[in-house]
Amino acid sequence: MVPLVEARALDRTLDYAVPEHLAGEVGPGSLVACPLGPRRWVLGVVLSLGPPTHEGRLVPLAGVVAAPAVPQRLLDLALWVSRYYVAPMADCLRLVLPPRAEGALRRDRDGGWVLRAPPAQAGRLVASDPAEGGTPRQRAVAAALAAGGGTMPAADLCRAAGTTLETLRRMAAAGLVTLEREAQERSGLDWFGTLGPAPAPRPGPSLTGAQADAVGAIRGLLERGEGSLLLHGVTGSGKTEVYLAAIADARARGRSSLVLVPEIALTPQMLGRLRDRLGEGVAVWHSALAPAERTAEDRRVREGRADVVLGARSAVFAPLENLGLVIVDEEHEASYKQDGPPRYDARQVAWRRARAEGAVVVYGSATPRPESWAALPRRTLPGRVDDVPLPPVEVVDMRTQPPGPISRPLAQALEDGAARGQKAIVLLNRRGFARVLLCRACGWIASCPACDVSLVLYRPPERLACHHCGAESPAPVLCPACRSAELSRQGSGTEGLGASLERLLPGVRLVRLDAASAAARGSLPRLLEDFARPGAAVLYGTQMVAKGHDLPDVAVAGVVDADSALQRPDFRAEERAFSLIVQLAGRAGRRGEPARVIVQAYEPAARAVRLGAAHDVERFLGEEIARRRERGFPPFSHLVRGVVEGEDASAVHRAAVALADDLRAAAAEVDVLGPALLHRLRGRHRRALLARAARAADAAVPLRALVDARGADLRRAGVRAVIDVDPQET
Ligand code: ADP
Ligand code: ZN
Ligand code: ZN
Repeated sequence: MVPLVEARALDRTLDYAVPEHLAGEVGPGSLVACPLGPRRWVLGVVLSLGPPTHEGRLVPLAGVVAAPAVPQRLLDLALWVSRYYVAPMADCLRLVLPPRAEGALRRDRDGGWVLRAPPAQAGRLVASDPAEGGTPRQRAVAAALAAGGGTMPAADLCRAAGTTLETLRRMAAAGLVTLEREAQERSGLDWFGTLGPAPAPRPGPSLTGAQADAVGAIRGLLERGEGSLLLHGVTGSGKTEVYLAAIADARARGRSSLVLVPEIALTPQMLGRLRDRLGEGVAVWHSALAPAERTAEDRRVREGRADVVLGARSAVFAPLENLGLVIVDEEHEASYKQDGPPRYDARQVAWRRARAEGAVVVYGSATPRPESWAALPRRTLPGRVDDVPLPPVEVVDMRTQPPGPISRPLAQALEDGAARGQKAIVLLNRRGFARVLLCRACGWIASCPACDVSLVLYRPPERLACHHCGAESPAPVLCPACRSAELSRQGSGTEGLGASLERLLPGVRLVRLDAASAAARGSLPRLLEDFARPGAAVLYGTQMVAKGHDLPDVAVAGVVDADSALQRPDFRAEERAFSLIVQLAGRAGRRGEPARVIVQAYEPAARAVRLGAAHDVERFLGEEIARRRERGFPPFSHLVRGVVEGEDASAVHRAAVALADDLRAAAAEVDVLGPALLHRLRGRHRRALLARAARAADAAVPLRALVDARGADLRRAGVRAVIDVDPQET
């Protein structure tokens, strides 16, 4: 009987025969080279072995890729992601590929994966099938390589095969092996500069009653091998100490842990605390690691030298064995949802993975999502560990203030703080110098020709930039419509705020933190260190300043535009505005010195502003959940968004309306809203429909089927449809 492989290459499952000489090496999760057409080889992931599913000759596999196989549980997880998010299987399998496998591949023009050369596994092919030829010396190399597991340092290989580097070079040139530069085994920990060996683990503080209770609850779940918990507590309430105790507990039971943080920038600080408490065995896992670092961390995890993995979103797929605990810190952050394909939500994937592997998930936040609040058992850490009270929050009505980003009360607080040598944080959720360039004479507004949004003014030199497509142009001196010189710059961005702060606080150290200033590798720690130096300083910027960075004593915290988030037509607008205010307030007065928090708003009476200023999470979430129930929004339903886009407005309109109508007809229990008009993006017109259903699959599966069924029609009309399950933006 011919062994049979379903290998996944493109977006179909294909059957291949396993040649006899590879029979022992191929199993579910193996990475294999699949001939596809006369010249191409594509990377395949073996999903299962079985008897032939159809008559006819099967093409034999060409070889096994010299990379660790994907463990069955991660294979299952990737396939689940593909089903739940109705995303192409190939994209989802990519999430669980070992780093080396991806290195051997490049994207083909048709979107398939193509092996760059039959790489190191060619050595194994020759080794396992000597009939395929090669010189004796090449066979010796292949045999040594196969004995060494398919990958080994070139020097060791030369010694083992009794050959020279020159032979290896020639074999590499002939595509029989690949040579890679890997100067030394590097660790992902190097990403933050050189870290020495971890210090001996230090015991933690004795836990408070509430912390001990939370750790006990997690232990109970761990013993049962299932369940999730929401850990609610303000910044400084001791959540991280609970995580550390729970991880140590899991380790003592031989279980590994996964620690997710919402963004890469937050890993150094968490890494420090993990190593401090746990010593060795902590790996770092995120997309900013260099290939050699990724490979090193991957190896440490697979070989069991690391049993704790810390990282951003993608770490949820780390190949840990014996998973016991998943921590999702700052669980309210939207960045847990991937923006591009496959559009998975690491919080949901964590839940699914934990359920399948008998692990427990702990979601932590000062401002949890209504979804978690409504669904999960909860432990609250009341107040801050050392009973430092939360600072009072003053709300300033901006309608009564002179123009400019800084109100009189905030200016006063900043001046007083600077005079005392204290630190301040000011948040403004918009980059650039001014949000709008507008002609006072005729009303012209500078807008992006490709995106239908107003352009943001930057300087120096003065230029206009589109935040959606990145297009930049010099700023006009005269109005292009009426030649008037009365151009006005309205609405400050972070750069404009910086200029105002400079005027207000001459000589005070100002540190800007936004996507632009933090972009370069290593620049974030430098900015934060600069801010932390003794003496007065102001850290200002976008919501990055409100994230969980470990900041020194902050005496003044201000939000410039607390309610700007409310303007957005998103059902989560209030949740976001509320969370931003509470998170920023949590940054001030952490060491017990008197602090001031000032929240500027044009609608000071708005619920999110009022309750945010009062730190009233219970009341806000209670009301928010009631409102969601009434309107049938998550957590009382799942949303699935379909965005149709293309260059021809009427084709987009027709396609979107037809999709919405057909979905209504195909799935009677699904409530379909829209299609609504979205602003144009990169020259492409867009329409979005929003489907609401009891289970995500009720809407996602029929929508995917409709989109796939019409694939050819849509392509012919120059239209593309993207499906987003549980979207974070609506
Ligand atoms: P969070 O993660 O909620 O912001 P942390 O766990 O970082 O809170 O705790 C805030 C500060 O209080 C940290 O410096 C931490 O070391 C300290 N801390 C936490 N729990 C205790 C405890 N039980 N006893 C003494 N100090 C503690
Ligand atoms: Zn004009
Ligand atoms: Zn644009």
